[in-house]
Amino acid sequence: MVIVNGIEQDITLQCCSHCISNSTCPGISFDKKGVCNFCHLHNKWASIYPNDNRGNKQLKAIIQKIKKDGRNKKFDCIVGISGGRDSTYLLHLIVTKYGLRPLAVHFNDGFDNPVGGENMINITRKLGVELRTITSNWIEAKDLKISFLKASVPELNEGTDVGIAASCFGVAHKENIKHIIYGQSFRTEGIKPVSWAYMVGDYLNDVQQKFGTVKLRTWKPDNPNYHLGWKELFYYTIFKGIKVHSPLYYENYIRKQAEEIIKTEYDWVYPGAHYFDDLYWALITYVHRVKFNIDFRLNSYSALIRDGQMDRQQALEAVKKPYVMEDPRIIELCLNRLGVSRHDFDSWVKLPPKTFHDYNTGYKLMQALRPVIKLVTKLGIIPEIVYDKYFLCGE
Ligand SMILES: [Zn+2]
Repeated sequence: MVIVNGIEQDITLQCCSHCISNSTCPGISFDKKGVCNFCHLHNKWASIYPNDNRGNKQLKAIIQKIKKDGRNKKFDCIVGISGGRDSTYLLHLIVTKYGLRPLAVHFNDGFDNPVGGENMINITRKLGVELRTITSNWIEAKDLKISFLKASVPELNEGTDVGIAASCFGVAHKENIKHIIYGQSFRTEGIKPVSWAYMVGDYLNDVQQKFGTVKLRTWKPDNPNYHLGWKELFYYTIFKGIKVHSPLYYENYIRKQAEEIIKTEYDWVYPGAHYFDDLYWALITYVHRVKFNIDFRLNSYSALIRDGQMDRQQALEAVKKPYVMEDPRIIELCLNRLGVSRHDFDSWVKLPPKTFHDYNTGYKLMQALRPVIKLVTKLGIIPEIVYDKYFLCGE
């Protein structure tokens, strides 16, 4: 008998001997010493993106290239922001430490947390950075969220995630900016199995075609809306040469310290639990817990353990408590905004769980082309971490 999500479960669970990831994670495997494949991936990425002097050098070269490409332009990069901790700190870093001239882009699909909004206004005003908010069509945004609930898959925020990335590419294209910067880091967020976080526009389109009630507006390079499939990605990255960077990979990024800095400098306010800069995460967390047995604490705590920021025993104790971080009033608010009854929502939650493998996503074709993609990765055209995320992150 083991405790998962605070519930006693009669299953055999193997837990990694180094982190706290366990066999509830699809595609996890363990070596002879009981160390999981995600820990090995972390070590590999940590050597590709070192956060010491070597990483500093690599980061400097990237910043120089961004500055060079941005010469005589109003902006030299796009930075995607949400008002959450990571993106606020990132904006602070790239202006005050790296000396870049970013255009901040925010995507709003109607579920913004007002606290996150205040945070964005405060920091952009103080740093003198222009903030451009891309607001999606509410009818499409709502319909997409309902489609993914009906599709019975874990990526309930697919519309927002694809929308954020697509907006950044769209604004970069419109303003002729060659670099996009995100505040993500495998060191603090951890590594999710591919079937919990498959973020490609082709998947979104297939689910929307099967379950949607509205047709999404078509793709325009300056205004991609929700379209960021393989074809569009190829257009922006290979044909137009727009590059994506994650500078926090190279930083010794300690969230607690970052929080202190942004609180002091920009009156930043914690928008709730992590990711609650987007209110819809309250509902997602609930569905993950009751339907998919997904506990993202296993990912994020494992990341912190691997990075030496958290004690493994402490983490094991912490996850014994149920993963209930959602506020029921916010879930009701989300359902009201979607125009969905509790009865319909409950019936979708009860549908058998599925993953992106059950949909038409082009993933099978990618797997068939895997040797070619591997070669392109070895040539440095695709970053190794991108290849790994699609092919080596579990199932
Ligand atoms: Zn591990």
